[in-house]
Amino acid sequence: MMKTIRVALAGNPNAGKTSLFNAITGAHHKVGNYPGVTVEKREGLHEYKNIQFRFIDLPGIYSLTAYSLDEVVTRDFLLEEKPDIVIDVLDSTNLERNLYLCLQFQELGIPVVGALNMTDEAETKGLRIDAKILSDTLGIPLVKTVGTSGIGIEGLLDAVLATLEKAELTPGKGQDKAPSYGDEIESRLGPLQEAIASDKTFVARYPARWIAIKLLENDANALKKLEQHERGTEVGEKAAADRAWLSKHYGKDSEIVVTEQRYGYIRGALREAVKKVPVNHVQVTEIIDKFLMSPIVGLPIFFLIIWGIFKLTFALGELPAQILEHFFGLLTSASQALIPPGLLQSLIVDGIIGGVGGVFSFVPLIVILFLCISILEDTGYMSRAAFLTDKALHAFGLHGQSFMPMMLGFGCTVPAIMATRTLKSPRDRIATILAVPFMSCGAKLPVYVLLAGTFFPKNADNVVMAVYLAGVVLSMLSTVFLRKTVLKGQTTPFVMELPPYRLPTWRGIFWHVWGKTWNYIKKAGTVILAASVLIWVITTFPQPKDADAQPESTRSEYRLEYSLAGRIGKFIEPAIRPLGFNWKIGVALIPGFSAKELVVSTLGILYGAETVDGEETESLRSALRRDPDMNPLTAIVLMMFILIMPPCFASLATIKAEAGNKWLIFQVVYSFTLAWLVSFIVKVAGGFLTGA
Ligand code: GDP
Ligand code: MG
Repeated sequence: MMKTIRVALAGNPNAGKTSLFNAITGAHHKVGNYPGVTVEKREGLHEYKNIQFRFIDLPGIYSLTAYSLDEVVTRDFLLEEKPDIVIDVLDSTNLERNLYLCLQFQELGIPVVGALNMTDEAETKGLRIDAKILSDTLGIPLVKTVGTSGIGIEGLLDAVLATLEKAELTPGKGQDKAPSYGDEIESRLGPLQEAIASDKTFVARYPARWIAIKLLENDANALKKLEQHERGTEVGEKAAADRAWLSKHYGKDSEIVVTEQRYGYIRGALREAVKKVPVNHVQVTEIIDKFLMSPIVGLPIFFLIIWGIFKLTFALGELPAQILEHFFGLLTSASQALIPPGLLQSLIVDGIIGGVGGVFSFVPLIVILFLCISILEDTGYMSRAAFLTDKALHAFGLHGQSFMPMMLGFGCTVPAIMATRTLKSPRDRIATILAVPFMSCGAKLPVYVLLAGTFFPKNADNVVMAVYLAGVVLSMLSTVFLRKTVLKGQTTPFVMELPPYRLPTWRGIFWHVWGKTWNYIKKAGTVILAASVLIWVITTFPQPKDADAQPESTRSEYRLEYSLAGRIGKFIEPAIRPLGFNWKIGVALIPGFSAKELVVSTLGILYGAETVDGEETESLRSALRRDPDMNPLTAIVLMMFILIMPPCFASLATIKAEAGNKWLIFQVVYSFTLAWLVSFIVKVAGGFLTGA
């Protein structure tokens, strides 16, 4: 059997871990030029020199201090599941900060190899890194790599094998070297370490030196681990005395002393190994940032870009969407010609083509919207936007770090909610999780486009953008409200570095857009298809016996009202009548709870089933316009309702997993109530304005 080794890829956010992971394993996971993209660990296989490498791509972290959920995930993984080796992916342009984490891996006693990634960028910045000297000084094998092109991968894998071989020769010893904290701290560390080492079963699980250092840092998690130590209380008291001594001696918290010492050690090593040569070319990033990051120019540009994206999405997407719509129209006519009228024809025409076709027609719009967003993400602009909006977000009790999850929410709420794991304070996290569903996800877009296109044919793009904006404003207001009531508390300060502008790679953009589009298509072909058939069934059965006695013009309406869907719709109609919705809209909203695209499908089925003067075909748009209950105001109210109503089942499951049952129930009740109230206010205010 082939030997398998488990390699964890760890490192700071945005250092290129996922890029390297993809380059090595041939996977297509999402990379992004901002922190917080990878929130769950992912695995991939690669065979090299007859050895099976099992790679685990971990979320990016800055330290192992366990402040945020990400750090806890990584640390627990390393401690409990003990991979054979860690590849620490380092951003070569920012080694001082990146090595900080590397030292902690080393202290953890797991063999570590450093990938000096972003070598290309370091070169252009004039940083000459001598990997050999740095590696010898730190006692960590280092290999230069470029994640985007895969340069240096073989060298990296060779270094992994060599390091493991060495570790096997001297078992239990991953490193020859460990960072030194200077005589004074070491004089405290030594005895503390010995006291910890007195419990053999404990040190078999956690390296004594690492625990000793963590105790000096007053690490809550390490203190808790002491409970498993047979002399835990004694060790804890000793550590407390050491901390007191350190803080008295240095005049600052022991935690800060340890951190400074670690940075001092890194700086010393870098002084030996890195030379900075002057570069002639001006820093493009700095120049662009002067403009884009100033609030006066930056914010208007940001809004201009967002506005441009909507314009572009509609301008470019309209024609292909029409072609697709036409194609489904042809399919309808063909089915009607080939299949004799009756249940089968109705199932195919109304149920399947009417239900799925509508959703498919929006693929071009989805592609363009996602393309624009991923270009913004990959260049690094999104991180700027997070910074720009940080101040504004503070006013709402959120902060810049909430921006990324919220932007991701425009794509899909599920990954957006998972991305909140980068937030340190649980309160900030819950606030963001509750705000994210108000960002219109890709599934809501078709509903908006259908309604706006039908009732505002000239201004569809502006109307859709206004609904998106309404969602953003609402998420802000809602957060202010929640932060003042159920989620009272301080916001934590926001520290995020700005990545440099990078040209997006075609490969990255392609996989990014393709992944999302394919998910959309897959969903339309499976879940939406199945649900459409189900909706067709409940809109068709039971059938009235006396339908033929009805006048031809109202016959299908009569059938629809008699069906199960009709009865459900009639039943809930009183609850939604104040919003101006008739029972058909009510029927369409119900499947909207499981997936928003289904609102389009259901409308397609309900209105497609209508016969107009004996003519069977009529486009969904004109059928909607002919409904006396539908008008531009109702369309807006309906869009608002769909914007605010509880998110789809997949999102709710994610909220449950990330925040627990309590917040799940809260989210459902809250968003449902809010949807009704806001829709009602819009309806009343709109009626007042239009004099209706
Ligand atoms: P992660 O957060 O550590 O997983 O980082 P990603 O793999 O998502 O990469 C972050 C950004 O850096 C993306 O825009 C990548 O295209 C880019 N990138 C990754 N590796 C390199 C590299 O070696 N050189 C350059 N110039 N860019 C890189
Ligand atoms: Mg990543």
